[in-house]
Amino acid sequence: MTVDTAEDRFSPATWPAYLALLSSGELQRRVAQAYARLERCDLCARYCRVNRRQTLDGVACRTGERAVVHGYGPHCGEEDSLRGWNGSGTIFFSYCNLRCIYCQNWDVSQKGEGLEVTPETLARIMLDLQRQGCHNINLVTPSHVVPQILVATLLAAYRGLRLPLVYNTGGYDSPEALALLDGVVDIYMPDMKYGDSATAHRYSHVRGYWEANRAAVREMHRQVGDLTMDEHGLAQRGLLVRHLVLPGDLANTDKVLAFLAGEISTDTYLNLMDQYRPCYHAFEEPPLDRPLLPEEYERALRLAAQHGLHRLDRPRRVKEHFF
Ligand code: SF4
Repeated sequence: MTVDTAEDRFSPATWPAYLALLSSGELQRRVAQAYARLERCDLCARYCRVNRRQTLDGVACRTGERAVVHGYGPHCGEEDSLRGWNGSGTIFFSYCNLRCIYCQNWDVSQKGEGLEVTPETLARIMLDLQRQGCHNINLVTPSHVVPQILVATLLAAYRGLRLPLVYNTGGYDSPEALALLDGVVDIYMPDMKYGDSATAHRYSHVRGYWEANRAAVREMHRQVGDLTMDEHGLAQRGLLVRHLVLPGDLANTDKVLAFLAGEISTDTYLNLMDQYRPCYHAFEEPPLDRPLLPEEYERALRLAAQHGLHRLDRPRRVKEHFF
């Protein structure tokens, strides 16, 4: 695979959506609206309604006016359509609005390891990832830092950022936050972690996940549609859903896939993930204390086929798994 020239890479045909909002002045207005929302925070489906500019008391995501970043760099472990040949430009935000007891990155998501960054620094990180040849800006765990992302995008876009934004979320997003992101995000990559809220409450300590998650995925799909790719197979725009198959079918995979096929689209690009391994507090909660069994993953694949979901990520890897 050859790398495009700079002119090809940033031709108007591949410009990200936020450039139109930049030239109309709407991106600046979104930044102001988003920071106003920080003062009675409804930026995710937890609805803490606390003034994050003044206090961290009652702030479930433990993040105030400034985002905390754990690290950034080209990432080659993401979906094929995101990593391409130069990697996905990943920014890992610290803290999270979920409390998954099996989180693999609990030191980042729960302990908050990382450094507070100014909007200027966050913009510089985005531009640095572009300079390194990454194909997109992949915002990992972004739900609680939407204002900070918007202002950094504004600053970076003024200085030449031309990469699409990937909103890589646990899927517990509020309609208020998604309205701010309409026309800014090109690629939504939500998790659909569970097919019912009681299980989500037990293992991720959030209320109403199934309802909030379905509403969020519907809105994301309304904004960007099914995933489209360029001639090199790189994601350009659309929805990419991740579903981690859990031991003992705790994720209620059939219900999640039925929703995607019936209410979103059978053309939904789906990463059906098989990499569950117990960590953090999972050892205290069987069956989360064991890895996923091959037959459990096989069942999930069969369900996807039965529901007509045909765009699975890395079909080769799926094939290796079984044949
Ligand atoms: S982003 Fe979510 S978790 Fe954080 S303060 Fe706002 S509503 Fe609460």
